[in-house]
Amino acid sequence: MRFKRVYDISVLLGLENIDYPGDDPYTREEVSSISNGAAYNLSTLTLSAHSGTHIDAPAHFLERAKTIDLYPPENFVLPAHVIHVEDVESIKPDSLDGLKTERGDALLFKTTNSMSGLSRSGLFSEKFVYMSEGAADMCLNLGAGLIGIDYISIDRYRDDMAPVHRKLLKEGILILEGINLKEVPSGDYTLLCPPLKMKGAEASPVRALLLG
Ligand SMILES: [Zn+2]
Repeated sequence: MRFKRVYDISVLLGLENIDYPGDDPYTREEVSSISNGAAYNLSTLTLSAHSGTHIDAPAHFLERAKTIDLYPPENFVLPAHVIHVEDVESIKPDSLDGLKTERGDALLFKTTNSMSGLSRSGLFSEKFVYMSEGAADMCLNLGAGLIGIDYISIDRYRDDMAPVHRKLLKEGILILEGINLKEVPSGDYTLLCPPLKMKGAEASPVRALLLG
């Protein structure tokens, strides 16, 4: 099957990614380089499992819960809906009004985080559009398989109980964080976002694409 357009909704690690306060920042260090006379280029990465565009699995917040490697690949190739959100504070339940979706679909929220460039600014801001608990409940009612947001966290900053993470992860719903939807019109797509295959990991960086 051919797609008319492929949108890359990942942020560029090393330039656009936002390191959550306290997480190890992403770095790539060249340990061997041809320009310095070596036979090859080789680099070493340091990063958090939550660096840049990434997926949270239930084990991120819940004891003995499912880790990312236990999800089959079908969970990372999904029908997806990009939903435009005007509210500059949070994603509220009414942003889902009238949405036609099937159980297991991915719901990706395009907010002012994307429109203002904050999503790919490389800078952490305490103020960003987050998901309200009411909207998370709506997503659960709709049977969403994955929820995506265009900032590095889905919960309001300093909400230490992380109520939205907990609500979604408790139901086994994956959270795709750190996407950039600026160029993507709202509508229906196929989402591809396979994580690295890491034993026992609570999260993983991903390359996220929307096929339209
Ligand atoms: Zn995360």
